[in-house]
Amino acid sequence: MSAKKSKMLKATLGLKNEMGRHYLAIEQAFRDGTPTAWATSGTPVELLYAMDVQPMLPENSATISAAQKYSQNFIELAEQEGFSYDICSYFKTNVGAVMEDVDVFKGGIRKPTFMLSSDVICDTHVHWFQVQAERFGGVPHYTIDVPHVVSNTTKRQREYYKKYVEEQTWELLEFIKEHTGHDIDLEKAKKVAANSYELSVIWKDIYELRKTVPCPISTKDTFGGLFPLFTMPGLRSPIRLYKKMYKEAKERVDAGQGALEKEEFRLMFEGIPFWYNLKYFAMLERFNAIIVYEPYTYAFSKFFSNPFETITKERLLKDPIECMSTLMLSFWYTFDLETRVRWFKETVREWKIDGVLMHNNVSCRPNNCAFYDLKRRLSDEADIPCLIIDGDQNDPRKLNVEQTNNRIESFIEVLRKNKKR
Ligand code: SF4
Repeated sequence: MSAKKSKMLKATLGLKNEMGRHYLAIEQAFRDGTPTAWATSGTPVELLYAMDVQPMLPENSATISAAQKYSQNFIELAEQEGFSYDICSYFKTNVGAVMEDVDVFKGGIRKPTFMLSSDVICDTHVHWFQVQAERFGGVPHYTIDVPHVVSNTTKRQREYYKKYVEEQTWELLEFIKEHTGHDIDLEKAKKVAANSYELSVIWKDIYELRKTVPCPISTKDTFGGLFPLFTMPGLRSPIRLYKKMYKEAKERVDAGQGALEKEEFRLMFEGIPFWYNLKYFAMLERFNAIIVYEPYTYAFSKFFSNPFETITKERLLKDPIECMSTLMLSFWYTFDLETRVRWFKETVREWKIDGVLMHNNVSCRPNNCAFYDLKRRLSDEADIPCLIIDGDQNDPRKLNVEQTNNRIESFIEVLRKNKKR
């Protein structure tokens, strides 16, 4: 077994500065008295930028707590407040971090002018902000209710859903105006939307390069690299970072170099990673295995991860509000089993994947929903080996490293045998 480490792109090192700029912008907003908003992923953060409201993403802050090894402490504090062991650890990390009033580098986050949530991905988002708005002593909170489009939703129903969400988006703009005094400038909204689109295009292109054997990019670049997509969609600076990442990865492709010195097994990782133990994924390298696709990080290239409808740049520039509303109706986590099976089969084929690791994340029920059915269908219908591993994205107490190692080792043996067939 090789013990060589995979190579991270040099450009990815720029991510630290990029995220640093985001946190500085937040601090600057507080100094200047600029309105700020908490937003959940899946909401149209672009519209906040378009209305000169500084977004803050508590999910992103929670991942920082975990990466800095503070999340367990915050989670336990929240549990002492009465929040259950089983509910989302992002939420509990946020509760603990706010209680302790820690700085941004430990995952702290300040009280915002208002909060924006949506139930597109999970109900937790809505309840999380309801709870925290109350615990802050009352923060205005707007939530967007998004019906789920599934594979047998009719065109007529979808059109109705779109109107329903779009009406709420226009109402959101009124809500923002009421609480900040800022009105929507549609020309600015178009520029912001165009930047968001461009960012998505490059992320998609980076993913296209991952189809190459050997794969030029590992999760060292993508797990962290996804953050600008949901904290800064609409700004120019992350576009520059992604272009550098793409350029370097393309050079590797042209030179026939992979991120791993020797690539034997190509994997998909479904779910949110263990942010408190990202080094864990380096363990796969001992088996010359590399993760070449993560639905979770790809999902944030939202203009291109929509199986139901295409949003072109022209359409976006014509009506950014309509497009932002439509995009909310199609997010990876909301896909039903049929759509997921189809998407997985296509992805496994196109990215030449040997096996799928599924993170049965105690925190995130929407993501894990139907994992066992998904595994069975992929195995029965397409002979795709899948392994379900138990853990949690922010709570280290829920990952049994030894047990998981053993199971992955056995899984790799299965893949090895498959290759010999
Ligand atoms: S981890 Fe899952 S349940 Fe928790 S906030 Fe994110 S999507 Fe919702």
